[in-house]
Amino acid sequence: MPEKTYDHTQIELKWFERWRNTPGLYQAEENSARPKYYVLEMLPYPSGTLHMGHLRNYTIGDALARYKWMRGFNVLHPMGWDAFGLPAENAAIKRGLHPRDWTLSNIAEMKKTFARYAFSYDWDREVCTCLPEYYRWNQWFFLKMLERGLAYRKKSKVNWCPECATVLANEQVIDGCCWRHETTPVEQRELEQWFFKITSYADELLGDIAKLEGGWPERVLEMQRNWIGRSDGAEVDFHLEGTGQPIRVFTTRVDTIYGATCVILAPEHPLAKDLPEGAAMRAAARQRKDAVDVEKEGFFTGLYAINPYSGERIPIWVGNFVLMEYGTGAIMAVPAHDQRDFEFCRKYAIAVRPVIRPVGQASQPVADRPEACPTPEACPTEAFAEYGILENSGEWSGLTSEEARRRMAGHAERNGFGKAAVTYRLRDWGVSRQRYWGTPIPVIHCPACGVVPVPESELPVVLPLDVKITGAGRSPLEAVPEFMNVKCPRCGAPARRESDTMDTFVDSSWYFYRYCDAHNGGAPYDSRKIAYWFPIDQYIGGVEHAILHLIYSRFFTKVMRDLGLVANDEPVTRLFTQGMVVKDGAKMSKNKGNVIGADWMGEKYGADTGRLFVLFAAPPERDLEWQDAGVEGMYRFLSRLYRFVTRNAERVRQRPWGSKGSALSDVDTKALRKLHQTVKKITEDFESRWHFNTSIAATMELLNELVPVEAQISDRTLRKILDTVVLVVAPFVPYVAQEMWEELGGAGQVLRELWPDYDPDLAREEEVEIPVQVNGKLRSRIRAPFGAPREELERLALADDKIRALVEGKQIVKIIVVPDKLVNIVVR
Ligand SMILES: [Zn+2]
Ligand SMILES: [Zn+2]
Repeated sequence: MPEKTYDHTQIELKWFERWRNTPGLYQAEENSARPKYYVLEMLPYPSGTLHMGHLRNYTIGDALARYKWMRGFNVLHPMGWDAFGLPAENAAIKRGLHPRDWTLSNIAEMKKTFARYAFSYDWDREVCTCLPEYYRWNQWFFLKMLERGLAYRKKSKVNWCPECATVLANEQVIDGCCWRHETTPVEQRELEQWFFKITSYADELLGDIAKLEGGWPERVLEMQRNWIGRSDGAEVDFHLEGTGQPIRVFTTRVDTIYGATCVILAPEHPLAKDLPEGAAMRAAARQRKDAVDVEKEGFFTGLYAINPYSGERIPIWVGNFVLMEYGTGAIMAVPAHDQRDFEFCRKYAIAVRPVIRPVGQASQPVADRPEACPTPEACPTEAFAEYGILENSGEWSGLTSEEARRRMAGHAERNGFGKAAVTYRLRDWGVSRQRYWGTPIPVIHCPACGVVPVPESELPVVLPLDVKITGAGRSPLEAVPEFMNVKCPRCGAPARRESDTMDTFVDSSWYFYRYCDAHNGGAPYDSRKIAYWFPIDQYIGGVEHAILHLIYSRFFTKVMRDLGLVANDEPVTRLFTQGMVVKDGAKMSKNKGNVIGADWMGEKYGADTGRLFVLFAAPPERDLEWQDAGVEGMYRFLSRLYRFVTRNAERVRQRPWGSKGSALSDVDTKALRKLHQTVKKITEDFESRWHFNTSIAATMELLNELVPVEAQISDRTLRKILDTVVLVVAPFVPYVAQEMWEELGGAGQVLRELWPDYDPDLAREEEVEIPVQVNGKLRSRIRAPFGAPREELERLALADDKIRALVEGKQIVKIIVVPDKLVNIVVR
């Protein structure tokens, strides 16, 4: 039979239609006896189009899901939509579309693209976070957290554009200005907002990172450790001179406290609040986006504090770099041993007094001020921030820093002015958004009762659809009286609903649980289903989610566990973070105009080529450079493979697997060895590093080796080869694999076939027998892998018993090696 031309359009259209009409093709089994495998790609924001970065993420997950199916697993592979969020509101403002309509039509478009690429999702489990049947459970979780004191309200800063007279999301602040008013600086205003108390779990979130080691990329774990940012230290009370009022400071270096030369307060600290300079400093802070890299400024309050260890009287300052939210809002400045304190104190001519010297270095004379330096060495030009030996520290002098930290914290505790303490960088999670397109926060504000939770029976609090989105004011919900005005559930008096909506990160913190029981109307999910599917075996997404989403969802899991809803401590066993797709050295982005859409790619080259390209062009954890030539190379390979299979299909179609024949020829043996090596390579890639680029390269090599000898390969060997090749490429290129399967007479779905085994013996590299000569005379033979390097052959020859006996006691002049052919040892 003549070979067929690879017509990707016709092949993909045919199977697209057939698969569309095969319900349950990608469904997980209920009550399955197979082992379970939950593979998940992070759900997209429905912007309307899939770009190459998406395509890469989903293709990796899809190839893995298909492989696991073929390995006999009961696979759960769902997909959904992170459908709330700001872009929908922007589209509403710019184009007059309702956020809901814009979002749902984008979802419809993207779903088509997903189907076009044959992503094997079980759409019966689809989750769409902007629909009430989903977000009612956000509200339910909120109420559970409120009950447990894990949701609370406090004043917090928001971005405010005075021109728009509205709150801005962080994404709407560009270089400190409003996104719509490029020259209007964004101000910080204080509003009452809702928080989740993630800090209650800080210790566990940090400790359980140990459970994720090996399964999560170390880089992600390190980012989480830093984000949580545990500091072990001590809280110590200085006392206000005169009144004796305690001023609590947190320090990680209580061993340096004799070197404290001032106390510095945050501008918001109660002692600084009423000072006029403090007000000015707070106003300046409002103009800034964040406090990093700001010139350190401060002023003296006129007050003094007493050091509880030394009894020394030191001045109290206010500094713009001290944060009220971190520790206690007050620090002791030890300029000799902290670089930031050093810069501040030098700037304001505050004393610098060393109290720690490096281990093994002699004590230096004390010099508080530059002008009093007896020697240049005694007058530091920067802080010495390392641990060392205490000096000039009263009874503690001579101790090491480690020991002093422990003993001095104990001393404070015994004397009632402090204790050992831990602080975290992690802040509570602010979940209030003054926006429309999000989950309404289910509370009611009653003038008499205060904050009253919406009764569970009244959930969901449905987001009203009839709103005007103008971009002005606080939340558009405030202008919807039917929504805002309610009766207080507690006393019946007229009351108002909360107009803030939830951060969309709440939606994505637990969505993957909902997939296990997506249609449950009475609970977020049935815990028994979670017990079967969780934890997620493999989660795949971008490294940009290393913190936020991947910490919030760990937090949610721990809260759910404490509510008795799930048994697992962690949601995800293995995490994979793929690299970006770049073009001309830059990340693909709309702004740069270098985006390549998945739809265009599918049109031009077909879905299989697109899938193959994103897998082949780079190892998945690395960035992938877009190259037209690379795409065309993939197309040519598929075309070549398809022609190879079709021109041999008739020859082998009647040959069942394993049919008997005469002994294998050398050509058959060699071809089978290469085949087993290829299967081994691909299997190992799936089971370990996912370097599919080398899997695909191995398949290309196999084809290169087979094509020149295809006529000499026996029918039954060829049958085995063709079937096997189709099966091992199927996870990468499902359309053409299914078509070739049919050409070979296969019935049913490739997805339901078993993954081929390889014979490790057959896959082993071919060995060659090499004669070994001594002074030109044949003395022995060694076996070595074909292509073994020179040094290896020398070593093997010299280790041979016969050769060793012959050369013993003699001088080896030289060894001549002809790789794969001969070793000749010249002795004297
Ligand atoms: Zn503005
Ligand atoms: Zn009331």
